[in-house]
Amino acid sequence: MDLEGKKTEIDSLLECVRPISFDTLVGNSNLKEVMSKAMEGSSKRSEALGHILLASPPGLGKTTVARIIGGPEVLQLMGTNLDPELFERILYMLGEDNPFKRVVFVDEFHSLRRGMKESISVIMEAFQLPGHSSIRIIPFTLIAATTDSGSLHQAIRDRFMYTFQLEFYSIEDLSKIARRTAGILAIKITDSAITEIALRSRGIPRLTNRYLRLLRDWSSLLTKPIVEDILQSKFRIDHMGLGPLDREVLYEILKGAGKPVGIVTIASSLQEDQSNIENIVEPYLLRVGLIQKTPRGRVLTKKGMDFITKMKRT
Ligand code: ADP
Repeated sequence: MDLEGKKTEIDSLLECVRPISFDTLVGNSNLKEVMSKAMEGSSKRSEALGHILLASPPGLGKTTVARIIGGPEVLQLMGTNLDPELFERILYMLGEDNPFKRVVFVDEFHSLRRGMKESISVIMEAFQLPGHSSIRIIPFTLIAATTDSGSLHQAIRDRFMYTFQLEFYSIEDLSKIARRTAGILAIKITDSAITEIALRSRGIPRLTNRYLRLLRDWSSLLTKPIVEDILQSKFRIDHMGLGPLDREVLYEILKGAGKPVGIVTIASSLQEDQSNIENIVEPYLLRVGLIQKTPRGRVLTKKGMDFITKMKRT
């Protein structure tokens, strides 16, 4: 099981709980307000919405927001396998009958290849194909999602009219999400069990839903002691929501004995992808105050040190 929030098979079984309107999307009040106004305006004027960039670690709602804005049938592409020729063909295919719904969603936007980044930049700005200024493309809206916004150059960021950084969710918002999901999946659960799941979800709705889905197989009524016991003993998720990889990263930093440890060293000793550590593990460890970033690497905070010394190695 992937504990850090990346999409896995179990999440496909949870498509039925994905919000399909801003009314059921929890949190994100600024995004909902700004985009509702923008969608209303563009719909009235029959114009394409401005391009939108959604940035966050995995599981915080980028795809959900893109589907609410573009509609459930929005064309979804992966940045990793997009090339200029394919993209041009797609743009030609976009229909003309419903201009404000002409939306293309590109996930993992940071992983576009260099040539593709350059050509998409021209297309987004001028609705022209690079090198073919006479060929006009029907205006469309690009919604780009990225887990690594830091790697996007300013020139390409400037092409987006709206940029939203989706934040980790509060315990209260995660509890709302858990309650709604439990309702849809007809799971019996107590209030304190809902809070316990929220506490262990490391701020990520995808994990909240996933834990509920897993836990329902263990009992017909989920109570706090059952949630604590199963998440801890079967899935090794501790009371702060940390999983095995988070703890491994803390141990690598501990090995530095107070000296900052670089991300390359951590990734290579754990044989993990550097971007996984940087974009998935680290933001949560920083957020809960267990580590600190210095110009020369990562160090444990006092809280991180206390946490790790109390903990048995898993
Ligand atoms: P991302 O694209 O950022 O990886 P998703 O949009 O796929 O994340 O979200 C993962 C799951 O978490 C969704 O299927 C949805 O059920 C749930 N979710 C995410 N954000 C919210 C939210 N704001 N309110 C309710 N559920 C959410």
